[in-house]
Amino acid sequence: MKASNFFISTLKEAPADAEVVSHKLMMRAGMIKRLGAGIYNYMPMGLRVIRKVENIVREEMNRAGAVELLMPVVQPAELWQETGRFDKMGPELLRVKDRHDRDFIIQPTSEEVVTDIARQELRSYKQLPKNFYHIQTKFRDERRPRFGVMRGREFTMKDAYSFDRDKEAAGRSYENMYAAYCKIFDRLGLQYRAVAADTGAIGGDRSHEFQVIADTGEDAIIYCPTSDYAANIELAEAVALLASRAGATAALAKTPTPGKATCADVAELLQLPLAQTVKSLVLATDETDDKGIITKSTVWLLLVRGDHDLNEVKAGKLEGFKGGFRFATVPEIIEHFGTKPGYLGPIGLKKPVKIVADRTVANMADFVCGANEVDFHYTGVNWGRDLPEPDFVADIRNVVAGDPSPDGKGVLAIQRGIEVGHVFYLGTKYSAAMKANFLDEAGKPQPMEMGCYGIGVTRILGAAIEQNHDERGIVWPDAIAPFTVVVCPIGMDRSEEVKTAATKLYEELLALGIDVLLDDRGERPGAMFADWELIGVPHRVVLSDRGLKEGTVEYQGRRDAEATKLAVADVVGHLK
Ligand code: ATP
Ligand code: MG
Ligand code: MG
Ligand code: MG
Repeated sequence: MKASNFFISTLKEAPADAEVVSHKLMMRAGMIKRLGAGIYNYMPMGLRVIRKVENIVREEMNRAGAVELLMPVVQPAELWQETGRFDKMGPELLRVKDRHDRDFIIQPTSEEVVTDIARQELRSYKQLPKNFYHIQTKFRDERRPRFGVMRGREFTMKDAYSFDRDKEAAGRSYENMYAAYCKIFDRLGLQYRAVAADTGAIGGDRSHEFQVIADTGEDAIIYCPTSDYAANIELAEAVALLASRAGATAALAKTPTPGKATCADVAELLQLPLAQTVKSLVLATDETDDKGIITKSTVWLLLVRGDHDLNEVKAGKLEGFKGGFRFATVPEIIEHFGTKPGYLGPIGLKKPVKIVADRTVANMADFVCGANEVDFHYTGVNWGRDLPEPDFVADIRNVVAGDPSPDGKGVLAIQRGIEVGHVFYLGTKYSAAMKANFLDEAGKPQPMEMGCYGIGVTRILGAAIEQNHDERGIVWPDAIAPFTVVVCPIGMDRSEEVKTAATKLYEELLALGIDVLLDDRGERPGAMFADWELIGVPHRVVLSDRGLKEGTVEYQGRRDAEATKLAVADVVGHLK
């Protein structure tokens, strides 16, 4: 590529709305251009990086035996109604109508469509296992789009979906994808960690997030430097909380007189420090049969953080006390309590207290809690009031650095990360809802076991920059740099010798398949170097009359403090 043919547009200053370094540098380097909140044009320089990321992802997915297809961005609502997600998903799901007033959605992910394909196409156990993937535009109407491509509303995701005949085979598909993800992030040249995440109602330990390590990351990772233990903060907190509940359960046997209670009262009741309790309140709901026998116990963990908007209070759900938990929003919990008569109180209920079935966000301030016997409970518990303003990092948590690791192999440390990938075992959640069955050897229909596997292609650009930059600009890992080498001739318009040598070098590198750019714009050296340092090209070769006279060029790696002289004859070998 010659710079004169390409499009280069750099800025001295980043726009005011860019908060983090990756966003600032991507804007300044002319990689993206804002069109609306969380919506960007991918400019030619940025698109080259996106394509390189996509190619690595594609190669490794293919190598792992996954099959590429392409599913539509605009999807009929009917499929999403089959799984209930059309109604259940909040405002993050963008719903649109066509001219006939029919409902459609803009895909945030593609479980429904791929399951629809599978139920039509995968009919026999002989066709399994199968893994379909696509690299496609997604839309999520994020409440707070920010950090440029890191939390966009429109973004590119690779999403894969595996179909298997049973749990065991699904486990193998999961492991296969996990291994492929490690190869992908290794090849991308990123420092990352795979951490255990919640698995929701499905249970088990098959959910991992791939987190790029960066101080500016929105997520917190809990890990043990002396063992393999690593989990996201939500999972680590829930596990720690359950452990800490052991003592509290005993205290509940002596529940005091019922009455109005605040968070402080509940904290005292549960024998947990207030700060810890308001971060994470535990509720248990028991479902009973006609005779009042408990048939199912669900523990809800309310993890309170942020600005105390009740809609934002995060809650996790633990079924049967083991397995994983998933985060739900308060409205989702209310939906659960609001439609079924449930019971609410701490773990360890013998005779749970029945709660009314008409909860709304407004009366979240009137929960019943703390009962171990009928009439021995608090009413009017207000989850929202009395909460101290937690600071995001210094937040008081159930897990703090220095706590013993759950595996007993050391102490815990905390670092921040950016979620760039997620592998998740789905079980038969979608196949059962959509009747995606295959026929087993006996000719009996069985629901397919599924897994889903996402990679945030465009988010990776931001994550890579957060991890690799300096005061001059981006430092791309070689594998995803927009150009691997830039050839910078000085005074090309004046000197035939420089022009000839630069063109020759450029053509030789091209012939070797090296992604090289010849900067033939005729910029002054200072401006030219500043551009390429900002854009982050990893290797630079400078040709000048003076150097050529002594038969040398200057090579400088993007991280090198100084340039080194190389004999003209050695440059190509050096860059190969
Ligand atoms: P987050 O917790 O950051 O909101 P998520 O858990 O909702 O992400 P998944 O549903 O697991 O995201 O989607 C798979 C991948 O898609 C994520 O791991 C992430 O890399 C990417 N991704 C998700 N949301 C966005 C977004 N708004 N902008 C860019 N990439 C995103
Ligand atoms: Mg999200
Ligand atoms: Mg997430
Ligand atoms: Mg995720």
